[in-house]
Amino acid sequence: MNLKDPVQFLKGVGPTRAEALNSVEIETVEDLLYYVPRRYLDRSTITPIKELSLNSQATVIGQVEAYGMKYSKRWGRKNRYQVIIRDKTGFLTLIWFEGIRYIKNKFNEGDIVIASGEVRFFDGLQIPHPEFELISRKGEDLTHTGRVIPLYPSTAQLKKVNLDSRGIRKILKLLLDKTNFIIEENLPEEVLSSLNLLPLTQALRNIHFPDSLDLADKARERLAFDELFFLELLLALRKSKVKKVEDGIPFNPPGRLVRQLLKILSFELTTAQKKVLREITNDMTSKKRMNRLLQGDVGSGKTVVALFAILIAVESGYQTALMAPTEILAEQHFLTIHNLLETLEIEIVLLTSSVTGKEKLRILKRIESGQAKVVVGTHSLIEEKVKFKSLGFVVIDEQHRFGVLQRAKLKRKGKSPDLLVMTATPIPRTLALTLYGDLDVSTLDQLPPGRKEIKTSITDESSQDKLYKFLDEEVEKGNQAYIVYPLVEESEVIDLKAATQGYEYLQKEVFLHRRIALLHGRIKSTKREIIMKNFREKKYDILVCTTVIEVGLDVPDATVMIIEHPERFGLSQLHQLRGRIGRSEKQSFCFLKVSAPLSFDAKKRLSALCSTNDGFRIAEWDLKLRGPGEFLGTRQHGLPKFKIADLTRDLKLLYQARDKAFDIVEKDPELKRKENSCLKRIFLLKYKDKERLLEAG
Ligand code: ADP
Ligand code: MG
Repeated sequence: MNLKDPVQFLKGVGPTRAEALNSVEIETVEDLLYYVPRRYLDRSTITPIKELSLNSQATVIGQVEAYGMKYSKRWGRKNRYQVIIRDKTGFLTLIWFEGIRYIKNKFNEGDIVIASGEVRFFDGLQIPHPEFELISRKGEDLTHTGRVIPLYPSTAQLKKVNLDSRGIRKILKLLLDKTNFIIEENLPEEVLSSLNLLPLTQALRNIHFPDSLDLADKARERLAFDELFFLELLLALRKSKVKKVEDGIPFNPPGRLVRQLLKILSFELTTAQKKVLREITNDMTSKKRMNRLLQGDVGSGKTVVALFAILIAVESGYQTALMAPTEILAEQHFLTIHNLLETLEIEIVLLTSSVTGKEKLRILKRIESGQAKVVVGTHSLIEEKVKFKSLGFVVIDEQHRFGVLQRAKLKRKGKSPDLLVMTATPIPRTLALTLYGDLDVSTLDQLPPGRKEIKTSITDESSQDKLYKFLDEEVEKGNQAYIVYPLVEESEVIDLKAATQGYEYLQKEVFLHRRIALLHGRIKSTKREIIMKNFREKKYDILVCTTVIEVGLDVPDATVMIIEHPERFGLSQLHQLRGRIGRSEKQSFCFLKVSAPLSFDAKKRLSALCSTNDGFRIAEWDLKLRGPGEFLGTRQHGLPKFKIADLTRDLKLLYQARDKAFDIVEKDPELKRKENSCLKRIFLLKYKDKERLLEAG
């Protein structure tokens, strides 16, 4: 048996069943082995029907005696489907009021069923809507169901076959019962013994057919460890490769330009900013290549820190590229930096996809000749055509929106430039260790002095007039406001219309005497730039916008934000949006204006946002509520899909995996030792793109 064999050739699987398995991405034997149960029923905890006690959870096993629809004649009582089962001690009714069509054809007389749920009494003992598993059909051999019975997610409902949990269990049983079932071990003996992990073959057996629930846990732990470990191993190898080479640029220590910038700034750097800047300066002035992540909550002042680092590069005669994920953000960075650099007589250019024709040619020339010292832009920066004379420093903002390979592409435009990546989405510790495990991390854990907590509250249509009045009063005081409409990818056209209509309504009916602008991604970038500039210069009082303003926009006098349909956003995104206000010493206010009754989950999410301004706590919640993929909100984040590991709960395992991986690589950076040969083999198999991935650091 080969792990890469298609499932179709397994015993018990033909073309139709193979198709059903394929529908849930099970193509090979290996995929099947890693199709893990969603939970287990433990036969050792089975209660005889006679001993069931009311209103408590129980698991029962029994034979189907009768089944069928019950139509209710009495008013107010629902039709229902019921299955009567019996064991040696008595009868019990399993009962469904909903989802009947999914249940209906499942049972036959004589089937053995295991069911669990809460025991009720109503015309006899019943369990409403139990979790159940068909153990065997009438007359089938019962011996192959162990004490612990795995419950699998069923395959998609295909026309003809629908492989249910029982079907999958049987196929797996046939496979694992082969006497020669042995899978080559992935991990060195030392790792297994020091962390007390199950060997791989045992783990794969016990994830499916454990002798006890404890063993099932151990098996899951081992398989989750694998996923985390090989990811960390990749990160460790990447990091060690970067660390080892001393071909980085030793920049000069901060000099005249840095001192000048300190003078121009209207504020003192915070302690956190100074600390982070020291870390960056140390890296930059050393011969090692800097590979550093700068993370900090919205408004913590990352841009200024980056600007200082940029000046260090410029002072040593090198060019810097600053890449941002959206045009608006790139434009914003350009404006901020431009304003400050103008007085220092440093040339800065902006390159996005909206820059075209002659202007583009001119800019490309300035970059190639080295006259443009600072180049700000979007993905456009990684185009073939863009050539630098002496790119020595790369800054990437909102790092998680780029893929690792894009990062690498930009870096390759220079000769081993230093790298600073920034993120304003606070990343929970677990994710940071997996996503950025190969980077050194600097954290801005402090906001500029005098910042007040933004007051956040939930409102609805009924208090709209009051809300607009409040906003108007703030504007009267000389403050500014955002009114944000959601822009959700799937319904962009409709959303955009809502924003435009909202804008027209507000301008014509509500704020006749105020200056309002509309900003969204479809407006041409040159025009957008002007709108943003004007808003910053207070030529507008209110900015009606879509979520394009999510990142970056920095207008200190903006103190009010109304978010329409906040229930359509994730927590972290809302936190980002809210971060556009509260950027000065004034008190700011954020209103989450919901328009429909909230679901329980939405209410929980929005209340969480009202209760704290701490981006790291919000990020932890968001990760728990939505899982890592959704949390990061993009396919490009570079986080592998884990089948078994769960970043919201496997924190300890992740630390162990990380420690081990980094330890092994430190002692054996090329994985040359005999005991690590298995690692090397799996690693090459897992990461076919290895060279590129390693380079990507
Ligand atoms: P981030 O990118 O981390 O969200 P920014 O770098 O855009 O934050 O800074 C937010 C705002 O705070 C900007 O208006 C910036 O000028 C200001 N700022 C940055 N550092 C300080 C400081 N040390 N003291 C006061 N204001 C600061
Ligand atoms: Mg910023």
